[in-house]
Amino acid sequence: MLRARAYHRQKLVLVWSAMRHFAAELQASGWCVDYIEAPSFSAALRQWLGDHAISELHVMEPAERPFQLAIERLHVPGLHWHRSNAFVWSREDFAAWARPYKQLRMETFYREGRRRFGVLMAADGTAPLGGQWNFDRENRKAPPKGLAGPAPLWFEPDATTQAVITKVQALDAERQSAGQPPLPGQLQPFGWAVNRTQALLVLEQFIVNRLDGFGPYQDAMVVGQPTLWHALLSPYLNLGLLHPLEVIRRLEQAGLQQGTPLASLEGLIRQILGWREYTHGLYWWFGADYGGSNHFNATAPLPDWLEQLGSSGMACMDAVLAELAANGYAHHIQRLMVLANYGLLAGLDPQAMTAWFHRMFIDGFDWVMQTNVLGMGLFADGGSLASKPYAASGSYINRMSNYCKGCRYNVKQRSGDQACPFNSLYWDFLDRHHEQLRRNPRMALVIKQLERLEPAALTAIRSTAALHRPSC
Ligand code: SF4
Repeated sequence: MLRARAYHRQKLVLVWSAMRHFAAELQASGWCVDYIEAPSFSAALRQWLGDHAISELHVMEPAERPFQLAIERLHVPGLHWHRSNAFVWSREDFAAWARPYKQLRMETFYREGRRRFGVLMAADGTAPLGGQWNFDRENRKAPPKGLAGPAPLWFEPDATTQAVITKVQALDAERQSAGQPPLPGQLQPFGWAVNRTQALLVLEQFIVNRLDGFGPYQDAMVVGQPTLWHALLSPYLNLGLLHPLEVIRRLEQAGLQQGTPLASLEGLIRQILGWREYTHGLYWWFGADYGGSNHFNATAPLPDWLEQLGSSGMACMDAVLAELAANGYAHHIQRLMVLANYGLLAGLDPQAMTAWFHRMFIDGFDWVMQTNVLGMGLFADGGSLASKPYAASGSYINRMSNYCKGCRYNVKQRSGDQACPFNSLYWDFLDRHHEQLRRNPRMALVIKQLERLEPAALTAIRSTAALHRPSC
C-alpha cells in the first residue's frame, strides 16, 4: 500500500515504525504475531490465511472502505467485525443521528456529541459548561508581532526507527533507479512518536505547555513557527496509538483542574469530538461515490511546485510547503486557507488534490482527506458538507499571518504583474462560477461586489488570474 503512491518520506517512516513497534509490544506481552511484508494488503491476508487453518476471523472495522472490501473479498466463513476504537461514534450511531437531517452541520453534530458523551457539560447534563457551546470568535486572533509558541516534544529515532529510515532510503533509491521521481519531503530529522508510550508523553507535554494557550491563535500563521500551540496529536489518533475518548477525557479533566481558559479547552475538544468524528462519520454516510464529486468541474492539473513542495513564488504557499516538507505537517488553517483555498480558486482537479493531501500529510488518510479536502476545502461536493465555499482572497492570509510582508506580490492589488495571485484568482473564481454561486444566499454579498466591478477591471483580473492557473 505504502509503495503504491509517492508518500512523504516521514509518513512512510512513521507508519512502518509504528507497526513494527506495535508488533514487538504485542509479542512482548505474550501474543503470537505474524508480521508479513507483501506487495499489497490483500496479498498479505491471503498469504496469512494460507499459512493457517482459520475458521473464524475477528477484525476491527477499518477506517477506510478499500480495507474493508479487501477483507470481505477473502470470503472467510466466520468473519466477525468489531467496532473500531479509533472513533467515539460508531458508524451505526452516526447514521442514526444523520438520518432525519437534510443538511448535516458540524455544529449540530458536535453539540449532540457533547451531550451524549457528557463532555464539558454543566451539572444538569443538558447545558454546556460556561453557558456557551462555541468560542470560535475568541479563538481567531490575528498574530501580533513576534508571536512564538512553546517547542513541541520530538523524539530521537530508536534502532527500529533507524532501520525503517534505511528501508525508506532503499525504497527511494529503487524508485529512482526505475526512473521515478524522488519521494517527497525530508527524511530527517525525524521526531514523531512511534509507540503509545511516546504518544502519551506528547499528550501530557501538550497539557502542561500548550493547552492553556491553544485557543486564541489557533488560526494564526507565522513564519518560522510551524506548530505554535497546536497539539500534534492527529497522527497518533489516526494510527490508533491514542484513543479519542481517552484523550478527550484526559484533556477535560486536566484542563478543568489547571484552570485552562474554557475557549482553549473547548476549541481543542471541538477538533476531536467535533471535526474528527464528523468527517469520519460523513465518509461512511456519504458512500463510495462521494470521492468522485466535482461540483465545479475543476480539471486543472496540480502545479509541479506542489509535488516539489516549494518554489511557487508565493511567500505564504512556500512557507507552508517548506514546513510540510520538513515533517509532513501543517496546521488546519494553513491546509484550508492556503493550500486548499488555492486549489479551489485555481480550479485544480479535486481528486488529484485530495490524493496529494493524503500522500503529503503525516496524518492523512482517505477517510479524513475526502471530507476535509474535497468537501470543506474544495467544495467539490456542492455543499453536502459546507454551507458555502471557503474561498478567500489574499486579505484573509494577510490578516491571519505575517507571510505577505516577505512576498514579491502585493496583497493590495488584484490585477497586474505585482498583484497577489490569491486576489486575482479569488475574483476570477467568483466570476467563473457566478451562476452557481449566486444561488447560495451565503455568497450574496461577495457576488454583489463582483457584479459591481467595471468590465475593464474584470478583464484585467481574468488575464492576471490566467497567469496563476495551471492549464489543463
Ligand atoms: Fe500570499 Fe498574496 Fe500574501 Fe503573497 S501577497 S504572501 S501570495 S497572500
